[in-house]
Amino acid sequence: VEEELDPAEKELRAKLAQYRGVWVFIEQYQGEAAKVSWELLGVGKELAATLGVKLSALIIGHEVAHLCEEAFAYGADQAVVLDESVFKDYRTKPFTDAVCHLVEKHKPEVILMGATGQGRDLAGAVATIVKTGLTADCTGLGIDDKRNLMQTRPAFGGNIMATIMCDRFRPQMATVRPHVMAMPERKDGSKGVVILEQFYLREQDILAKVIETISDKGGADIDIAGAEIIVSGGRGLMNKDNFALLHELAVELGGVVGASRSAVDAGWMPHSRQVGQTGKTVRPKIYIACGISGAIQHLVGMQDSDVVIAINRDAEAPIFQVATYGIVGDLFQVLPALTRRVREM
Ligand code: FAD
Repeated sequence: VEEELDPAEKELRAKLAQYRGVWVFIEQYQGEAAKVSWELLGVGKELAATLGVKLSALIIGHEVAHLCEEAFAYGADQAVVLDESVFKDYRTKPFTDAVCHLVEKHKPEVILMGATGQGRDLAGAVATIVKTGLTADCTGLGIDDKRNLMQTRPAFGGNIMATIMCDRFRPQMATVRPHVMAMPERKDGSKGVVILEQFYLREQDILAKVIETISDKGGADIDIAGAEIIVSGGRGLMNKDNFALLHELAVELGGVVGASRSAVDAGWMPHSRQVGQTGKTVRPKIYIACGISGAIQHLVGMQDSDVVIAINRDAEAPIFQVATYGIVGDLFQVLPALTRRVREM
């Protein structure tokens, strides 16, 4: 039985039906793609399969043709490419104008970007101009039976997980933080279609100029988001000096030290080490939580770690609900013993 629709609803559905395809924006810096872009191709592939559409990598930059091969290896069916000198460095206006132009032309149904500085900037600007919705910092993505993108993210200070959809606008846009989605398998030699695009922009019409780029890579602090082993400390550590216990274990394991927000707020660790909703999302092989209670805002940042080891003297602490191994005890006894044991191995 065909559903009776009023004319306005019919018109809306016909308009939405013009949009097809899943796009992933490939963020790159000097020709090197951000890992989150490949992670998004992984989840994008699943969404495209459910929708029965193609997965496209949107590549914008200068001398970036080589990224097509990589995008195909990570699952893209095609690459939509804008390769011009004005796109050498990321600048909001030219990138926004270019993406809006391509969206208008190709009408993708879904666009995913990394919740990085660049992705957050670009996604917000594009969504505003093409007049659609955007869900930031998603932790889960799926498709419902009406082709809507179900976008799950923590809401109300992390106390609930909200599933948001944008059922009356297209494209449906979401950003996802690095390390939230699993890396897809790389299949070198995979083939795809390259769609070379053009977008005319004169350098003199672009007001912003990049004068200097200062990288924080390899500088003052370590990027915990990419670490395979993290030894993390919370309020249970009592003070800054006691973090030495975590450093000792981390050194033995070849890992890095992370922290809860309480420890960061107390000034025991820099904010760059904070794990959680307002810190970093991590997905290490081993996450050792020491004196951390396991508040939801902390859990959303580390619960996808392969193995979670929790040390806490309170057997009821919520961290034990996500722990693979739990040690109920005083961390000031457990940690030195653990470090000694690892040293002996
Ligand atoms: P506590 O909750 O105080 O836990 C300390 C734990 O240490 C306790 O479980 C205790 O049993 C244990 N302990 C104490 N002494 C010992 C000992 N000697 N041996 C063993 N165990 C011991 N938090 C984050 O971590 N990251 C975020 O990104 C984040 N974002 C937030 C965003 C918002 C909007 C809000 C509202 C909150 C956010 N929080 C975040 C804060 C979060 O709600 C918690 O307050 C915080 O995670 C608690 O840190 P904690 O586990 O170190 O401290």
